Amino acid sequence: MANAAILSIGDELVSGLTVNTNAGWIAAQLAQIGISVQEHVAVPDSLQAVAAAIRRFTGRVSVLLISGGLGPTEDDVTRAALADAAGQPLEQDAEALAGIEAFFRRLNRVMAPSNRLQALRPATAKTLPNSCGTAPGICMRVGRTEIFAMPGVPKEMKVMFEQAVLPELRANAPVAGRVSRVIKFNTYGVGESAIGQIIADLMKRGTNPTVGTTVYDGLVSVRVYASGSAQEVETMILEKTAQINERLGPLIFSTGDVSLSNVVGDLLTEKKQTVATAESCTGGLLAQRLTDIPGSSRYFLRGWIPYANNAKIADLQVDSDLLDRHGAVSEPVAAVLAENAGRIAGADWGIGITGIAGPDGGTLDKPVGLVYIGLASRSRVQVRRCQFAGDRNGVRLRAADMAMSLLRLAMLDLDADAVFKI
Ligand code: ATP
Ligand code: MG
Repeated sequence: MANAAILSIGDELVSGLTVNTNAGWIAAQLAQIGISVQEHVAVPDSLQAVAAAIRRFTGRVSVLLISGGLGPTEDDVTRAALADAAGQPLEQDAEALAGIEAFFRRLNRVMAPSNRLQALRPATAKTLPNSCGTAPGICMRVGRTEIFAMPGVPKEMKVMFEQAVLPELRANAPVAGRVSRVIKFNTYGVGESAIGQIIADLMKRGTNPTVGTTVYDGLVSVRVYASGSAQEVETMILEKTAQINERLGPLIFSTGDVSLSNVVGDLLTEKKQTVATAESCTGGLLAQRLTDIPGSSRYFLRGWIPYANNAKIADLQVDSDLLDRHGAVSEPVAAVLAENAGRIAGADWGIGITGIAGPDGGTLDKPVGLVYIGLASRSRVQVRRCQFAGDRNGVRLRAADMAMSLLRLAMLDLDADAVFKI
């Protein structure tokens, strides 16, 4: 199978001023055509560093993809580094020069002499046209390694990759006929180590397909990566999907990029049901998440942010006695917030959230991260006491996720305690 390395060039990438999004994007594109990426490397704008990196990869991988350092300024060293690593002189490419001149004519701008440098390429290299900027790309073979150098500007790089690099890679014989696919299962309810235990045998290293877990904002995803012929990949994905579904069951709320709010929105739409929210410590985050989805007006009726006790009393009809006796952060208050939000809005579901997001305000029996989430249907109300870890933002995010998960499970007639205990 063809293998590749990705070399990203730029001081700002190495120093962290710019996040290296190109490498991830290129890797994902290569995965789709069955080229496995062995390594990502980022080096500064230094002729020696770039030339050394190119030399290190030539002969070791079948494809080397480079981004950055093709501009017209002193710090753009990719052309010179390629020539150096290949032991070739730089030559002017007449066609590329005509392309750069035409670019400036189209914009009615005078071309700086330094832009002529961008038409230089190592003697045996070809240039790749750039339809959105001045810097042409470079394509050359050194030993058994096919090298593609593209601009650093993400938009220009993407267009050049799609228009000029991808067709070349596809035409490359060893790649043809092989595909790879990634499928992602998103879970809510238990931590990464627990998930890891449940599917430990599926996660053994060095297998095809490979199975791995990642955590993002407190949600654990399980990824299956399969490569082979289209038929093999199809079979592997089906088999792993069945195994993972069987083990994780309702902990999985979606696959791919479908968010919790999408899933909850779809369920509400399907059941023709509606929801209203009364959020204290999340300050409207749940309402925002629910209304992130186009078409949410079908099911989201109304949201309150009764932050002050007076607002809880005036807007959500919470009894002042109840607040005095139990405090705002308490199970009975969460229950009343949920019940009354649903009832006043005329919604099928009411959600009430009250908690301590921190960093201050925690006590021994009500520590930071304590959140009560009430969920009321038209006939009953349940409250879950949650203790979340993390900073203020983390606690709020987790509370909103938990509220959506409780609503999801309730709509599926599943018991949250039983599901989260798996
Ligand atoms: P230019 O003609 O603009 O100089 P170039 O090919 O020399 O193009 P760079 O100078 O390396 O490209 O990068 C241009 C800009 O593109 C950088 O300022 C940076 O913000 C962005 N960029 C470069 N490389 C990456 C990368 N790997 N990921 C994300 N952004 C990048
Ligand atoms: Mg540059």
